[in-house]
Amino acid sequence: MSASTLSMDLGRDFSEIRDAVARICIGFPGEYWRRLDEARAYPEEFVAALTGAGYLAALIPQEYGGAGLPLRAAAVILETIHASGGNAGACHAQMYVMGTLLRHGSDEQKERYLPAIAAGKLRLQAFGVTEPSTGSDTTQIKTRAERDGDSYVVHGQKIWTSRALQSDLMLLLARTEPASATARRGEGLSVFLVDLRQAVGNGIEIRPIDTMINHNTTEVFIDGLRIPADALVGQEGQGFRHILDGMNAERILIAAEALGDARYFIDRATRYARDRQVFGQPIGANQGVQFPIARCHAETEAADLMARKAAALFDAQKPCGAEANMAKLLASEACWHAAEACFQTFGGFAFAREYDIERKWRECRLFQTAPISTNMILAYLGQHVLGMPRSY
Ligand SMILES: Cc1cc2nc3c(=O)[nH]c(=O)nc-3n(C[C@H](O)[C@H](O)[C@H](O)COP(=O)(O)OP(=O)(O)OC[C@H]3O[C@@H](n4cnc5c(N)ncnc54)[C@H](O)[C@@H]3O)c2cc1C
Repeated sequence: MSASTLSMDLGRDFSEIRDAVARICIGFPGEYWRRLDEARAYPEEFVAALTGAGYLAALIPQEYGGAGLPLRAAAVILETIHASGGNAGACHAQMYVMGTLLRHGSDEQKERYLPAIAAGKLRLQAFGVTEPSTGSDTTQIKTRAERDGDSYVVHGQKIWTSRALQSDLMLLLARTEPASATARRGEGLSVFLVDLRQAVGNGIEIRPIDTMINHNTTEVFIDGLRIPADALVGQEGQGFRHILDGMNAERILIAAEALGDARYFIDRATRYARDRQVFGQPIGANQGVQFPIARCHAETEAADLMARKAAALFDAQKPCGAEANMAKLLASEACWHAAEACFQTFGGFAFAREYDIERKWRECRLFQTAPISTNMILAYLGQHVLGMPRSY
């Protein structure tokens, strides 16, 4: 194999993991997720079951008590949860936030946190990047961390920090140098591992945001939070670069969730189209019902190929920014189209909560917006991959 070729598995890779995760998911049927959705509650039992079986420690190296699996295996875990009708949004951050800690954390930080995370005693589920006044323009964030002796003192605000109320630790991006003093965009930012157990009530206040899906997302107000200097992950001023690796992982994992949802919708739509009799025949015999579902299958298979390619590049530690972004773009659109086709196939019953279609339809809309919106991916492809002029 030459240096420029890369091999990747097609078909049902990691089938033991798929089967085992699917078995866990059987214990958490649509009714479970529906109840949580209504109560806007966190899936404690589901997260405990996944943690107990070791799946949330998939990416933690074995020396720290994890499974030491490749990113592709983590993607398979998340895809399976979504294809089973569940939602991994409650716990996926532990997988993609991990990359920053693994690649840039000190040995001391890894020894202090990773075994406890792998054992399920600590949750690293919160990632505080987005701010209300800067949105997608991450390099311009305003939350600042100022060095004061052996500590940093942090002031600022984050928004859409999901699971901050359920997590023990939060990876926080803050400015340690004014933007005006840095030579390049993205410099002067640093990443910190904040212990929320000590921080809440001592400089951090967390307020839930009422959203159209059950995503446990919050606003985080930071006022004079004092954190020890050794909470800094990696090099001061290089935080943006440190989270970028994690962002590629995040896009690949979110693509996997979207693909799981797409498969869920296609499976539900296909079965319903075969069974539902109207005008004396199954509705799926009509091309107006059948073709949209068939098209979604083709789109999903194509997106799956890109997602596998992105994961294979990531796992081979090769550049994968373009592929990770394309995978997330294609999978989020394939899954939305599948959601729409399924919704239409179910007719009026799509609106009945007990069928779960409307819940999954609402949930999967998120993938076109977060963790990065479609336009920002297109801008990245247009400008960084195709070399067209910058728009911002
Ligand atoms: C449920 C949920 C959970 C989230 N969880 C987290 C989390 O855990 N941690 C975290 O840090 N963030 C999180 N986010 C934030 C998410 O990443 C952002 O919402 C997303 O990146 C978009 O930012 P914004 O909402 O500020 O939109 P804006 O940046 O205000 O953009 C609004 C629209 O304008 C478009 N736009 C903006 N600039 C341009 C441009 N130059 N060219 C073309 N189009 C442009 C965007 O594509 C978008 O469609 C979450 C969001 C949601 C909704």
